Amino acid sequence: MHKVKRNKGPIKLMNKDKEWRDSLKINIKLKPNWEEFSKTVIKKETISMLEDMYKGCCCYCESKIKSTSYPEIEHFKPKTFYPELCFDYTNLHYSCKRCNLAKGSHYDDNIISPSEENPEEYIQYIGELAVSIDNNKRGNTMIDVLKLNERADLKEERIKYLNEFSKNYELIVSAIEMILNKEDSKDLSILKPFICNFIDNVELKSKHGESYCTMIKHNFLDKLDILMEFLK
Ligand SMILES: [Zn+2]
Repeated sequence: MHKVKRNKGPIKLMNKDKEWRDSLKINIKLKPNWEEFSKTVIKKETISMLEDMYKGCCCYCESKIKSTSYPEIEHFKPKTFYPELCFDYTNLHYSCKRCNLAKGSHYDDNIISPSEENPEEYIQYIGELAVSIDNNKRGNTMIDVLKLNERADLKEERIKYLNEFSKNYELIVSAIEMILNKEDSKDLSILKPFICNFIDNVELKSKHGESYCTMIKHNFLDKLDILMEFLK
């Protein structure tokens, strides 16, 4: 998870939200009809704006959604307990089916909104695992509720992704060591294109909109400084 800048939602949704809140003022017991809303063009526009905001990746697990499953609208504060926020764009996120199902109607002060707070202050990735920084409660809650380390398919995808980078990194490091251990020439220039390529790739894949970008960032970004030393 990483922080995402919220875009402006569809105007039609803002109107719907206002209309809904006005009807609640008249009858506080009303329940939002999400199913009916789901058939409207406003829902389509909303999901498209959220997709743009999250660049097609799940707000929680960072999987590219369309390649694995259909996107869902996640109510950060669940509509069951916060019906007044059902059509409030600031309460809506872009999520994969698995995360949406896992979070369900769970909500408490430990749950982190990727558009309001910086999740990287609470969760870091070590290898393919999400780890709560200093064992903090909010990080642990997010990892447990979303089952970030328990979902076999998600873990497998992450490992596959990570392995590509690890393999290339290890190859570069052993090539550097081999050259530096040579008796005669210690010229690393032959490795420069490989090192540059690796650095570019890590920088690119750590960016918002790339699958598992936070995992790549946390595992490899600090290694780039070391590699850059060899480019001097
Ligand atoms: Zn997800």
